[in-house]
Amino acid sequence: MIIECPYCESKVDGEVKGEHQSYDPSEDPFPFKAVLVRCPACDNALLGGTELIQTGPTHYQWSPLNRLWPKQESHIDWEIPDIVRMSQIEARKCYKARAFSASVVMSGRTLEGLCKHHSTKSTTLAKGLAELKDKGIIDDRLFEWGEELRKHRNIGAHASDVNISKEDAGDLLDFADAICEYVFVLNAKFNRFMARQAEKDEA
Ligand SMILES: [Zn+2]
Repeated sequence: MIIECPYCESKVDGEVKGEHQSYDPSEDPFPFKAVLVRCPACDNALLGGTELIQTGPTHYQWSPLNRLWPKQESHIDWEIPDIVRMSQIEARKCYKARAFSASVVMSGRTLEGLCKHHSTKSTTLAKGLAELKDKGIIDDRLFEWGEELRKHRNIGAHASDVNISKEDAGDLLDFADAICEYVFVLNAKFNRFMARQAEKDEA
């Protein structure tokens, strides 16, 4: 099963060594499974968790493994495509290393990934964001956040006297994360929610 190995710093196809499924509807509406896997590259043990989620009116499937041990530093949802999450991870690494301009450049690249994922026609981020807004993929508020990200990315990417502060880099990181969460995670969640409602109406 696919899991992110912190030692290899990449996604690996872990060899399943054991698993345990539990279900307590009073605690959680979804059955849960803990899976112990071995990383085929570095031989380390990893523990992941997965939930049985509804993906269609009558379809259920186990969600991708979320690593429980060693603990994931900060969780980036699996519904966010690789082209976007790679930049999110880099932005966090730069921020932790106090490279604030670099962090903002990476946060901006998150949005470029978002545009690429949605195959916007324009090659510039400014036009790409406008296109996402026109298509209804982001609303006015997210567009405004995206614009600030874009402007600060430009400041961070070019040699100038302007420094990007820790506070600004941290906020822009949060805005980039929130945009991704909204577009990829909450949208998918809402669609599953509506699929369940449709199923109830049929019954
Ligand atoms: Zn590994």
